[in-house]
Amino acid sequence: MKIKNNMTTRIIIALILGITIGSIMNLFTGEAWVTGINQYVFNVLGQIFLNLIFMLVVPVVFVSIVLGVVGVGDPKLLGSIGIKTVLFFLTTTALAIMLAMALALVFKPGEGKTNLLASDDVKKYEQQQKQKAEEAEAQGMAAEQTFDQTLINLFPKNPVQAMADTNMLQIITFSLFIGIGMIALGDKVAGIRNLFEQANEILMYIVMMIMKYFAPLGTFGLVATAFTNAGFGAIQQLFMYFFVVLLALLLHMVVVYGGAIRLLARKSPLWFFRGFAPAMTVGFSSSSSNATLPISLECAQDNLGVRKEISSFVQPLGATINMDGTAIMQGVATIFIAQISGVDLSIGQLVTVVAVAVIASIGTAGVPGVGLVMLAMVLTAVGLNPAAIGIILGIDRLLDMSRTAVNISGDAACAVIISEAEKRKLSVN
Ligand code: ASP
Repeated sequence: MKIKNNMTTRIIIALILGITIGSIMNLFTGEAWVTGINQYVFNVLGQIFLNLIFMLVVPVVFVSIVLGVVGVGDPKLLGSIGIKTVLFFLTTTALAIMLAMALALVFKPGEGKTNLLASDDVKKYEQQQKQKAEEAEAQGMAAEQTFDQTLINLFPKNPVQAMADTNMLQIITFSLFIGIGMIALGDKVAGIRNLFEQANEILMYIVMMIMKYFAPLGTFGLVATAFTNAGFGAIQQLFMYFFVVLLALLLHMVVVYGGAIRLLARKSPLWFFRGFAPAMTVGFSSSSSNATLPISLECAQDNLGVRKEISSFVQPLGATINMDGTAIMQGVATIFIAQISGVDLSIGQLVTVVAVAVIASIGTAGVPGVGLVMLAMVLTAVGLNPAAIGIILGIDRLLDMSRTAVNISGDAACAVIISEAEKRKLSVN
């Protein structure tokens, strides 16, 4: 716990240093030393951090979605409690992402002039996209994909190619098939299942290492680059993004969880939040649903009266597959990045974001920072530039803390609702 708190402190110090130094350097824009330091120090640190995150995207998405499908398809879940739990998780996640996108579309955190996208990486990506579009046009192909093509393209001809091209929708389809195959074959393929579980452990260990050792330096580099390029004005847009994510998290807690507790469990929302508050503070400071699990279980059982067998089934499952707070960040971030890139997302793309973010939530592990890796998947799925993650990466730790508190509250709310329903059933019989 102590190490994790130190990690947060270091990231916050890096953030403040990056803002201060970047803003001062912005006053001397055009001078050779500013360009030099920005290019060879800040940018290098920031881009390495970003590459480390991208390095993990394809393996994490593949492995965690396969394991997610295998987890949800567990025969134990096929009972009525299992089905109710999964339904609650999927519905609340879909609501979370829709609420997040609606708020981002109303508040428009990414509108207005910005230099936030000034990084070389982003420019390079945009040039590549333009080139691709021009090539497609030269070959007489429509730049816009038709519905039938979009549908056909969900299915990869070659999964290795799909991974090499970071074609997220095709990787998801392939992962779903592998997961379904693993469920169908059960113990026969226990070795492969083991392999996936161990691969997942290695990947999560790498995420942890990056977050622990490189995140402060990377955060400093990214924030300093953004502020050197855009000046103190950058804070306004980043602040708006930050504010919209927090607002969506708060509304989701109060309206969706509070409402569900009142209507489905027939209990007072205040009683729920008061009883679960200790776990929320641990979730907040550790940024990890998994690490918080022991205290989440304890709060649910001792303070909220959830039956032990229900709590110990629903909450660990939720810590693995139910991440409403993460889905909220991804919804706001996608709209924010589309806005600063000057892209209008179509209705079809918005629907894709909802679907992919729900799958991302199933695939996101409950450790710090994985939500960002999965954000790259959501952005790529709708053709947005994943390099733009660099802009929000610097301030993500603070949001990771807040969204983790929401993630675990969703699991506890579900446990309370199911436990109360079971108690009512018993008292009727
Ligand atoms: N840190 C989050 C959790 O553990 C996951 C994420 O959004 O990165 O719940």
